[in-house]
Amino acid sequence: MFTKILIANRGEIACRVIATCRRLGIRTVAVYSEADAGARHVRLADEAYCVGPAASRESYLRAERIVEVARRSGAQAVHPGYGFLSENEGFAEACAAAGIAFIGPPVTAIRAMGSKSAAKALMEKAAVPLVPGYHGDEQAPAFLRTQADRIGYPVLIKASAGGGGKGMRVVESSEAFEAALASCQREARASFGDDRVLVEKYLQRPRHIEIQVFGDSQGNIVSLHERDCSAQRRHQKVVEEAPAPHMTAERRAAMGKAACDAARAVGYVGAGTVEFIADTGGEFYFMEMNTRLQVEHPVTEMITGLDLVEWQLRVASGEPLPLRQEQVPLRGHSIEVRVYAEEPEKGFLPSIGRLAHFAPPQASAHVRVDSGVEQGDEISPHYDPMIAKLIVWDESRERATERMLRALAEFRIAGVGNNIAFLSRLVGHAEFRAGQVDTGLIERERETLLASAAAAPVTAFEAAALWRLRSEQAEARARGAATLDPQSPWAQGDGWRLNSTQSRSLRFRQGEQETAVAVGYAGGGFTVGGAAATLAGEGDALSWALGEHRAEAHVVALGEDLHVFQGGLRHLLQVVDPLAHAGEEQEAHGGLTAPMPGKIVALLVETGAVVEKGAPLLVMEAMKMEHTLCAPARGTVKAFLCTAGEQVKDGVELVDFEAAA
Ligand code: ADP
Repeated sequence: MFTKILIANRGEIACRVIATCRRLGIRTVAVYSEADAGARHVRLADEAYCVGPAASRESYLRAERIVEVARRSGAQAVHPGYGFLSENEGFAEACAAAGIAFIGPPVTAIRAMGSKSAAKALMEKAAVPLVPGYHGDEQAPAFLRTQADRIGYPVLIKASAGGGGKGMRVVESSEAFEAALASCQREARASFGDDRVLVEKYLQRPRHIEIQVFGDSQGNIVSLHERDCSAQRRHQKVVEEAPAPHMTAERRAAMGKAACDAARAVGYVGAGTVEFIADTGGEFYFMEMNTRLQVEHPVTEMITGLDLVEWQLRVASGEPLPLRQEQVPLRGHSIEVRVYAEEPEKGFLPSIGRLAHFAPPQASAHVRVDSGVEQGDEISPHYDPMIAKLIVWDESRERATERMLRALAEFRIAGVGNNIAFLSRLVGHAEFRAGQVDTGLIERERETLLASAAAAPVTAFEAAALWRLRSEQAEARARGAATLDPQSPWAQGDGWRLNSTQSRSLRFRQGEQETAVAVGYAGGGFTVGGAAATLAGEGDALSWALGEHRAEAHVVALGEDLHVFQGGLRHLLQVVDPLAHAGEEQEAHGGLTAPMPGKIVALLVETGAVVEKGAPLLVMEAMKMEHTLCAPARGTVKAFLCTAGEQVKDGVELVDFEAAA
């Protein structure tokens, strides 16, 4: 076995490989770009070398430089992770030339599977089932079109050199074929420097099921069962699970055999994944083989209890596979979600910036978090914006789903946008729960999955108010401790005032709606809405009792923003400073409707008044709190559609407002 290896990658996969090495007593060498000087994988490794500037092309993709670092540091092997150089023939060859083991398959296998067309031709010979199509060398548009006509529409045009969901076009009819071909070829040329394509039948509502295979240098090949990665957005995986829902033992055996045949056909050694597409009838067809460890390998580890990186290291150092096919365990069910720094509501735009708050759920036998970042780290624009992978395991799929929902509810991130609410809706979706996931589910259910944030409940405002009171108290105590007489009642910060029970109103804004919470101090504790509150919890955690009800929340303050995490939801509230200009940064659109059923307390301006954006227009009271509706833009209050004292229903229009042109 090796005693020192270099990891030619970054982020969660680098950290994950380091963890296995540490367990096996293998020293690790990290490489990093200038942007990653303080990254977690650099901190975890035994040694680390900078290999260039932030751009991947100038650092993580510089094969010769990385091989040189491996040689200098005395590493006997290189683990390439996924992405970057993991499927690069030149890199594998350069490692071999330097006498360093490449932890991956032989160069010939990488080459054979590198082109989707060539791989299909090879698989055809090995009698592995293929999606009907054309994958030959002839590339004339008219010829490809006759092939598409023969296959029958819809067809999918795929870049032979493609990957990562890029370079694919669905074509619905013969008339549309040539334009789609030209556009696919342009993208393929730009992304992969190779515009050759293949054409295949486009399956309707298919599932993506892949088989994890492993080969050793003695010629043994086993399957470590399947993963279902059908929950995709734009042909990119979002949720992965193992085993596949509704999989039968016979089909598993058949797919496992086809995958091992595929691997055997190219003399495969190491970890690989054979991807199949399955139609509604359960027929499955070879799509491609990924000649590396996959992002989603942890679900396989969870159901088999095996460490795939350990297997990779053993096989690369010449050992035989640790288990025979019939010895490979399969226990329970595992689900993984990819937590991304992105804004699902804004078309899934990556969200870069500082990860100001990062509190993943507690790891256990059931919950695993693979991450390359820690609180305070930057999500850089240079790399994939994945924050973490969250993986759960339980006895059944149903229980694993419940675990995932709970773990997502406990996952608290602030500072960068993230897809946690989206993932919760997806995993909680009736079709997902029923195991009815096909690759089009996310697109079809877009509306439901991307519903905008719900109005914060009363308890979220209570949390915000109590959090503020507690912080004020802590600040006052800190100030008091700094004064000469810390025993002085003035230094206690418990709201003690001569002859007074202080009461005031704290204001918070959510979107266009402002809410006031009446708070005070009494008997050494706090009051909210006139009732005494018993408050407990430390740090950002709050739990309180208010009259009859009890509630809990976590509150994270970032500048004026309060992120209130409660019941699996995140509510973004802004502290309204009465001294600042109200509503200065508000958006110029506004629902001047009642946000909830309540009573109109006061109209604040005259009918006909010309007001500035953010000017308070009316106050209503609902659920024991005051809400102020403000002008969404500069404009004219043409009429109030309610009167003071009136009880109004949820959603009714309250003001006829005309924004200035
Ligand atoms: P990439 O290498 O870019 O990941 P793949 O060939 O693995 O490309 O395909 C990615 C995804 O595209 C699949 O998981 C599936 O959702 C979809 N896809 C691929 N081939 C077909 C097909 N013939 N019919 C329907 N969907 C397909």
